[in-house]
Amino acid sequence: MSEKTKILIIGSSAAGFTCALTARKYNKDAEITLIRKEKKTPVPCGIPYVFGTIHDVEKNLMPDQALANNNIKLVIDEVKAINRERKTVSLLSGQEMDYDKLVLCTGSNPIKPPIPGIDLENVFFAKKDVEYLRQLLLKLETVKDVVIIGGGFIGVEFADEFRKRGLNVTIVELLPHCLQLAFDEEYCVMAEEKLRERGVHVITNNKAEEIIGKNGKVEGVRLASGEELKADIVFIGIGVRPETTLAQEAGLKIGEMRGIWVNEYMQTSDEDIFAAGDCAEKFSFFTNKPTGLRLASIAAREARIVGVNVYGLRRKNVGVIGSFATIIGDLGLGVAGLTEKAAKDAGFDVVIGTATAPDKHPGTMPNCKTLKVKLVFDRNTKAIIGGEVAGGSTTAELTNIISTMIERKMTMDEVATFQYGTHPAFTCSPVTYPIAFAAEDAIQKA
Ligand SMILES: Cc1cc2nc3c(=O)[nH]c(=O)nc-3n(C[C@H](O)[C@H](O)[C@H](O)COP(=O)(O)OP(=O)(O)OC[C@H]3O[C@@H](n4cnc5c(N)ncnc54)[C@H](O)[C@@H]3O)c2cc1C
Repeated sequence: MSEKTKILIIGSSAAGFTCALTARKYNKDAEITLIRKEKKTPVPCGIPYVFGTIHDVEKNLMPDQALANNNIKLVIDEVKAINRERKTVSLLSGQEMDYDKLVLCTGSNPIKPPIPGIDLENVFFAKKDVEYLRQLLLKLETVKDVVIIGGGFIGVEFADEFRKRGLNVTIVELLPHCLQLAFDEEYCVMAEEKLRERGVHVITNNKAEEIIGKNGKVEGVRLASGEELKADIVFIGIGVRPETTLAQEAGLKIGEMRGIWVNEYMQTSDEDIFAAGDCAEKFSFFTNKPTGLRLASIAAREARIVGVNVYGLRRKNVGVIGSFATIIGDLGLGVAGLTEKAAKDAGFDVVIGTATAPDKHPGTMPNCKTLKVKLVFDRNTKAIIGGEVAGGSTTAELTNIISTMIERKMTMDEVATFQYGTHPAFTCSPVTYPIAFAAEDAIQKA
């Protein structure tokens, strides 16, 4: 391929942004263009924190200057169609742009459930749209009662942030527990206890049947149990749907979980078109089956694969492990790979190891928190396949260590003897280091 390869990337959030920067690292001369609909792109994972911590939509933006600094052209326009024969895209403005390699990073949109009343004024979603978020921020100045439909991580994070503003917040979750699709039950219970301690009213095992309104505006939510909750605002956080319109209209293959089908090199069914991030189909690291997990960390990782493969197929996608953390008040919760339940559901015979330790040493150090670790091993291979962490500010990075161990398929013995560093102010004690301790616990039970 010539030095002046034309790379066109649609979408400029976690996937598109990372893909452009990666592609630049591997070719100083390529013509790299990023097209996106919106003038400004919010940092997606920062969105909840706009409402109780940052208090300003403008302080949660993707750093566009990095594009200019790396000679990446940014076009603000909407792609309306892809012409695969001519290798061009047409834009809303009427312009046509050609490509050698096209990368679809078109992301996802919030699911709008078919609940009566969903179109009433003051029903909001976690839209990755600066103007929309500004409207929500303004609206919060004038309201008191908020009902959040959906107790997944987005609902929980918004609940905690809304509480920081002093709002009356209720979460309504259909499943027996909040965060149940991400964590094992004992971790969900910890999350719910913390939410309640922070003043969030948590209703589980119940369904929002109708959003009630008057004069076109939200007034409340009626539950399947018959209970009616007062609401000035209803916030919906029940998941996302991949944005695949362009791909579908261009005749690209769509996967079982509604994402754009990709092979292990992240190529779509057209070898000159790649896809990465929320719009792309995901395959499990453990079963190779399609999975619905969609995260910014996955998007960025896939984009790093594509950013290199646009110049020749070098990087392979080993499938999604899924490493993720959240925080409620001062309680950090993290998960990597399979939970005990998910592993059993997938047919694994599991061995569980657990450990609890102060996250600093000695435990009398200031701001010391209790850290809990649960590891899931495959009894047959002895390999680590999952882990959950609850603790303080080190939770997310401990979860990432576990994710790395999973990817390297480390055995119980290897996890028990892995080489780590410790310091009183930053980590658990070397003697009680909980990842190693949890592995030792599992070895005793295997
Ligand atoms: C509230 C919230 C909190 C989250 N927190 C976390 C977290 O803590 N950790 C984590 O890992 N993940 C988190 N996520 C998930 C994460 O946000 C997504 O996985 C991530 O945004 C996916 O990035 P993406 O680039 O694939 O797509 P998106 O962020 O959806 O971006 C898609 C881009 O494509 C553009 N686009 C689409 N169609 C067109 C078109 N036709 N023409 C031009 N441009 C187009 C859009 O304008 C946008 O720029 C969170 C999500 C939300 C909503």
